[in-house]
Amino acid sequence: VRVAVIGSGGREHALARALLASPRVERVLALPGSDGMAALGVECLGGNPLDLETTVRRLAGCGTDLVVVGPEGPLVAGLADRLDAAGIAVFGPRQAAARIEGSKAFAKAFMARYGIPTAPGRVFDDPAAAEDFLRRNPRPWVVKADGLAAGKGVFVCSDASAALAAVHRLMRQGALGAAGRRVVVEERLEGRELSVLAVTDGERVHLLPPARDYKRLEDGDRGPNTGGMGAFSPVPDVTPQLLDEIRRRILEPTLAGLAAEGCPFRGVLYAGLMLTPDGPRVLEFNCRWGDPETQVLIPRMATDLAALCWDAATGRLPAEPPAWRAEAAVCVVLAAPGYPDEPARGLPITGLDEVAAVPGVHVDHAGTRRERGRWVTAGGRVVGVTARGATLAEARRRAYEAAERIDFPGRRFRRDIARDAIAG
Ligand code: ATP
Repeated sequence: VRVAVIGSGGREHALARALLASPRVERVLALPGSDGMAALGVECLGGNPLDLETTVRRLAGCGTDLVVVGPEGPLVAGLADRLDAAGIAVFGPRQAAARIEGSKAFAKAFMARYGIPTAPGRVFDDPAAAEDFLRRNPRPWVVKADGLAAGKGVFVCSDASAALAAVHRLMRQGALGAAGRRVVVEERLEGRELSVLAVTDGERVHLLPPARDYKRLEDGDRGPNTGGMGAFSPVPDVTPQLLDEIRRRILEPTLAGLAAEGCPFRGVLYAGLMLTPDGPRVLEFNCRWGDPETQVLIPRMATDLAALCWDAATGRLPAEPPAWRAEAAVCVVLAAPGYPDEPARGLPITGLDEVAAVPGVHVDHAGTRRERGRWVTAGGRVVGVTARGATLAEARRRAYEAAERIDFPGRRFRRDIARDAIAG
């Protein structure tokens, strides 16, 4: 089959690498793709996946059989519906099902309808009503823009004045435009976070092994939120019982509810969870592969990724769940100076090709460009270095050894990825 990956980041790099390795895959295309993906042997088409019409026309013109969509934007805009209409198989939900990520107010109301455990919260369209509510209920709240905001729409607040400031920014100043005109205000939960991804064809569902990602820029979960600074899998503190509870109380009822409402979900449903003393609670749903969780899940997958995506896209997911290697994987993201606000571009990167040649280590390009025969930075998250190992400790050691060997001016990365998981 001919497979096209939509997107250009580290997640798409990891997906493309696995698809290229599949014996069933004849060509791998990407739209837009990246110089890093091109270096793997992917045919990069360029373009803008949010331009749905052109995207579908170009993919059809290349004889694409299957499309694997990376980012949420095109899914929320309806790319899967257009591909369906053009007769191209697509791994990713239609627009109506993608609302589970595209609108936090929709997700909140949906979870309430089906009794899916989440933080208690309220939706506001009127800033005065939100402010009044916060003044009368001074507690730690989280204020979230309803629409997509690439990780910039969530304000975790320790007191009412911080929550009021967030409401002011979103609803009165319009800091995120239409995405923030409606907000969700929900209780701030305490605990450890966990990402559980499930592959589904709309009926059958297979959970992937849990992963943990690191959203904050600095060690010890300090500093601003980012797209993700690292990840690891498996997660030792997740028991089979807990995973089963997440399946039964969260993923299965969510998928059944979407199907019952006439919008069956196909692709990856990603539950971002807080493990509270009262049990797992949903912080958010995503309608696609996580970044950088995908970078640690894909190397652990023993099943052919192309077959899995094809089966899910065509409604024929087998009863047998995908197989996984017993190995662990750790991903460390190297970010450009100035990230997340204003990452510096054009900085020369050294060591990339040498590290990519180390067995058991993968370098996924997220924000790089090839310029006059050398690699330079071209985004906030520059590369993710993922290592496999027999244990998390071994994978972690190898990931950091490799990360140290890639350099660019002002390079930054967290030193504590997977550290707590190993200490106990
Ligand atoms: P992503 O970039 O993954 O799409 P997002 O911008 O959609 O994320 P959320 O995942 O909803 O936003 O929230 C981002 C982060 O904010 C979470 O990973 C978590 O650390 C924190 N957070 C969100 N909701 C809560 C909550 N109710 N209590 C405590 N922390 C929360």
